[in-house]
Amino acid sequence: MKVLVAVKRVIDYNVKVRVKSDGSGVDLSGVKMSLNPFDEIGIEEAVRLKEKGIATEVIAVTCGTQACQDVLRTALALGADRAILAETDVELQPLAVAKILKGLITKEAPDLVILGKQAIDDDCNQTGQMLSAMLGWGQATFASRIETETGAVLVAREIDGGMETLRLALPAVVTTDLRLNEPRYASLPSIMKAKKKPLEIISAGDLATDLAPRINTLSVAEPTTRKAGVKVASITELVDKLKNEVKVI
Ligand code: AMP
Repeated sequence: MKVLVAVKRVIDYNVKVRVKSDGSGVDLSGVKMSLNPFDEIGIEEAVRLKEKGIATEVIAVTCGTQACQDVLRTALALGADRAILAETDVELQPLAVAKILKGLITKEAPDLVILGKQAIDDDCNQTGQMLSAMLGWGQATFASRIETETGAVLVAREIDGGMETLRLALPAVVTTDLRLNEPRYASLPSIMKAKKKPLEIISAGDLATDLAPRINTLSVAEPTTRKAGVKVASITELVDKLKNEVKVI
């Protein structure tokens, strides 16, 4: 089974996000960028499939600028066999990413495509769904367990009030949820080894056309700061404040 994992370069989840002073977007200057956490889970799952002898090859792919090569090296250090950068300077939105990934998938013919359920920068939660629709393949989003059968995957996913298990004929698209696994740390030897693994750069324009953004960002603002709370001495005082000051009861 050939597994392709889509990974995105995003602001590191530990960074406190700053808004640009003109409100046109998020300030990325000098900010630490990392592999999207859900995509790290995707790589881990694919590598575990390889360790079990189920996957034959794990390919990490990303769409974006030259700078995105760093997250591909991280994916290689975590165990991917090779990596592909679909390079473009165009600002990419989920529809454009899905188009590029479709082009790559047509070329690579993987049996299973794993994406994160969402990128923590835009929180769109759209790319996997759009990709499966474009390919006409089955999809299972928010996977918390993946098992394999001959020619199929069984995907357990959390739904309101319980778990559901879907059986997807391969090839298929699966998106990861947090509970799927706990990614390993890349060891120093694997980071060194990753430097020698193949990383191919392809022009995104050769894989898909019309990548222009469809959505305009009008403005970005910091959330309003919360007012400090007050301590009350008794339940009676609390009820009085809720009734007469805040007027919610
Ligand atoms: P989103 O729909 O933007 O929330 O992203 C969902 C998932 O799509 C991510 O977790 C990645 O697996 C994949 N994805 C989004 N943008 C990119 C990109 N530029 N390159 C590669 N994969 C991406």
